[in-house]
Amino acid sequence: MEGIRAAIATACHRLAREGLVVGTAGNISVRRGDLVALTATGVTLADATVADVTVVDLAGEVVAGGLRPTSEAELHLGVHRRFGDGAIVHTHAPASTAFACVFDELPVIHYQLLEVGGAVPVVPFIPFGTPELAAAVVAAMADRQAVLLANHGAVTRGATLAEAMERTFVVEWACTLYEKASVLGTPKVLGDGQQRAVRDVMAALRYGRPQPHGDGPASR
Ligand SMILES: [Zn+2]
Repeated sequence: MEGIRAAIATACHRLAREGLVVGTAGNISVRRGDLVALTATGVTLADATVADVTVVDLAGEVVAGGLRPTSEAELHLGVHRRFGDGAIVHTHAPASTAFACVFDELPVIHYQLLEVGGAVPVVPFIPFGTPELAAAVVAAMADRQAVLLANHGAVTRGATLAEAMERTFVVEWACTLYEKASVLGTPKVLGDGQQRAVRDVMAALRYGRPQPHGDGPASR
């Protein structure tokens, strides 16, 4: 898990650098098999090192590292137990959190939200670190890769750490977009038919993946 611990520390630096986390507020985890590497509690993410990433088993028992895991360990472990190997990113990113202080769902105002499964639900407020919050997030993530937490923040998951990170940035960008559009008027929402049409195009173009030049329709 050493390489994964280092990758998590690097991802923490990026979240801090890009203004998605402030101080110690936010946490990242990656599951590989029966082990989960996750940030420790009280760590300033901008300065995180490998020593600030603790490895636990799926029951939360520490396997490696000297620091107590994040207070949201139950949330991370609950999602990992339900969905298997992958990564989770949790932040209190400003636009995402502001949106989750006001609305019950982020609608599909831009097709990029299809990358996280479509509309992003806002899980009703439940105090952090509780098994109740963990259970609510697991349930809300059944058919999507991002959820917002009312008056709290955002959670994204992905097959890889890079994917989970990218989804955190997409949700934050979409919440910012919603905010900007709302200043101008009422944001229009893409309907089911429009979303289906975009999915068809994405499938045909293998959208979002780097592709060799000259390979298939996306090169045209
Ligand atoms: Zn939190």
